[in-house]
Amino acid sequence: QVVTRFAPSPTGFLHIGGARTALFNWLFARGRGGKFLLRIEDTDRARSTPEATDAILRGLDWLGLDHDGEVISQHARADRHAEVAHQLLADGKAYKCFSSQEEIAAFREAAKARGTSTLFRSPWRDADPASHPEAPFVVRIKAPLDGATVIRDAVQGDVTIRNDQLDDMVLLRSDGTPVYMLAVVVDDHDMGVTHAIRGDDHLNNAARQMMIYQAMGWDVPVWAHIPLIHGPDGKKLSKRHGALGVEEYQAMGYPAAGMRNYLARLGWSHGDDEFFTDGQAIEWFGLDGIGKSPARFDFKKLENLCGQHIAVADDAALLQEVQAYLAVSGQPPLTEAQRAKMLSAMYCLKERAKTFPELLEKAHFALTSTPIEPDAKAAKNLDDVSRGILDRLTPQLQNASWTREELEAVTARVGETLGIKFGKMAGPLRAALAGRAVTPSVFDMMLVLGKDETILRLTHAAT
Ligand code: GLU
Repeated sequence: QVVTRFAPSPTGFLHIGGARTALFNWLFARGRGGKFLLRIEDTDRARSTPEATDAILRGLDWLGLDHDGEVISQHARADRHAEVAHQLLADGKAYKCFSSQEEIAAFREAAKARGTSTLFRSPWRDADPASHPEAPFVVRIKAPLDGATVIRDAVQGDVTIRNDQLDDMVLLRSDGTPVYMLAVVVDDHDMGVTHAIRGDDHLNNAARQMMIYQAMGWDVPVWAHIPLIHGPDGKKLSKRHGALGVEEYQAMGYPAAGMRNYLARLGWSHGDDEFFTDGQAIEWFGLDGIGKSPARFDFKKLENLCGQHIAVADDAALLQEVQAYLAVSGQPPLTEAQRAKMLSAMYCLKERAKTFPELLEKAHFALTSTPIEPDAKAAKNLDDVSRGILDRLTPQLQNASWTREELEAVTARVGETLGIKFGKMAGPLRAALAGRAVTPSVFDMMLVLGKDETILRLTHAAT
């Protein structure tokens, strides 16, 4: 069974790059009947905070990336990590090193002066345990001295590292605490991780982690080191390009489905497909579609995809997302009446809205109660001529039955009588019905508002 994991360090918000890593692991597992596990890498006690863990969980929750099983705390497993180090010690695959910081520094100085490798070679590697002093020690792994280590990477291909470039890495510090590199390997092994998709900033760690796998005789998971995300200018994505935290996108009102679609496309492709559903992404996602060069963040494309997802979303689900958006962005919730109105208007709102703020702006006519006041732009469409048009139209509408065909026909007839095109009538109607210059179609607004509200608004605007 396929088992993937997302292993964030809880030192800040959920970064857009981390979210993409999580998504790739989630898609890979979900498409293969596998498991997607979540491990919080909180071994760095000084930098890890519970707030950061919460932010990561909230971000994943918003993106709908549900994990299997309990959230695993790496720090809580420190005893198990130490146990593995002691096992390697017992098997002669690791050793106690009593060299002090000063001795190590002196070794490096001398090597530098000689022009030889400054990688520390401990004199304790092959020392007889009988010669061990009563002194603090670290536990080091016995790195292979010659040959090469090959990392078989599903994205990067085979990456070969000469073993003479690897030192006898510390596994346990002198206070007995395990190092991060050991923790990752033991956790991935114990969690049964079969595939680890992560940022290529971890590629260098892979060679060192491999030593531990080999010393323990454990299977190495399939590694897929994915290139980092760059900004539109090709430089490493940073704050100056735009928002980096997933929650910022939520607060800006991007729909989660659009975000998932966009993040999936960021560094992974399936032919020319840009827009796809979660189901399609799960079915299509594979390691072979991951690109080798960094993907560039493209805000236009993100908005575009978000618009497409809003257009096809289920109305009730969309309304729920809008409410969640209002809450996280600190805006007042919709009243029950507004929710009902928005739901009945949703069919004409969701076309061409790329974000929830845009959707709400289009919904202004439905969310605002009568009488409605025009904003500055709309007010320009309410001059005397316009009022005259509304005056002529209103009584005709009063007698109309409230269907789209009849509303269109009545309006066209009045236009003909007045000798004006519909374009001339639309501005005043938008201003009267929505108080805005840009709105959904006037007939959609009339249908959503109903006869009474429509007549009231037209009459109010004409006076
Ligand atoms: N905790 C690491 C990070 O946040 C991930 C380590 C891994 O995936 O092996 O970058």
